[in-house]
Amino acid sequence: MTIRVGVFGAGGRMGATVCRAVVADPELDLAVGVDPFHAGIDLRQVTGADVAGQIAPSSDALARSGVQVAVDFTQVDAARQNLAWCAENGVHAVVGTTGFGPDDYADLAARFTKSNCFVAPNFAIGAVLMMRFAELAAPYFETTEIIELHHDQKVDAPSGTSLLTAERMAAASGDWGADPTTKTVIDGARGGIGPGGIRMHSVRLRGLIAHQEVLLGTAGQSLSIRHDSYDRQSFMPGVILAIKAVADRPGLTVGLDALLDL
Ligand code: NAP
Repeated sequence: MTIRVGVFGAGGRMGATVCRAVVADPELDLAVGVDPFHAGIDLRQVTGADVAGQIAPSSDALARSGVQVAVDFTQVDAARQNLAWCAENGVHAVVGTTGFGPDDYADLAARFTKSNCFVAPNFAIGAVLMMRFAELAAPYFETTEIIELHHDQKVDAPSGTSLLTAERMAAASGDWGADPTTKTVIDGARGGIGPGGIRMHSVRLRGLIAHQEVLLGTAGQSLSIRHDSYDRQSFMPGVILAIKAVADRPGLTVGLDALLDL
């Protein structure tokens, strides 16, 4: 029995890659793609495979096609609406869109009672391991800064992955050294202050995809933990895993770690 999948943002960079990954998996069935700004585009063009139909303009199409799991890679404002629709209509959601804050997570946890919601700020296994290694290293170092680097079309900063990394490092250690800076010549030169007071820096550069380096320092040594996604394919095994697992995880689950034995 295949799982019927719908994709919000099907005309976007990630959404189109998800459509292709779903089509390539024999246990999944691409039922519909939704994207108001790319409505009418043939799904054959998006997927490069023999899939009938066109990108639909609204969520109504998901209801009509009996979708069991909807994947969302859009923008945070659109995702809030799409997820409210999923919760209301008992459709499971797998969410890669970034930009959610603590209030959003509380809202999703309250809304998803008839179906489940799985959110991962980063679906790449290497990024999940990077976060885990950073969390493990945190108690052994007094200073840390996070540099995240992304392509030049990314609209939110800092990245969801860097925020989650900082949150987890802050939970693992509250013992960070004070910032020595007393004079800032250029505003923002020391980056933004993230969870636990951890300094965060966002680089936007044409040609990049998604990259992050966690720097940790203590007397006489430093540790750099770096992850690079060179291709959007890097996210697909995680997305497919979540599509297949979401029905068995009641309520809200955040982070791909929940599906891995780390
Ligand atoms: P993108 O190319 O701009 O794709 C987003 C698509 O969603 C666009 O086609 C956009 O249309 C469309 N859209 C906007 N509102 C919509 C709505 N209400 N319903 C359906 N579709 C709608 O961006 P992207 O690079 O694919 O990234 C999408 C999101 O995924 C971002 O938040 C990014 O940070 C995140 N991301 C997450 C991961 C992860 O592993 N979790 C990895 C990579 C990216 P317009 O372009 O016309 O606005």
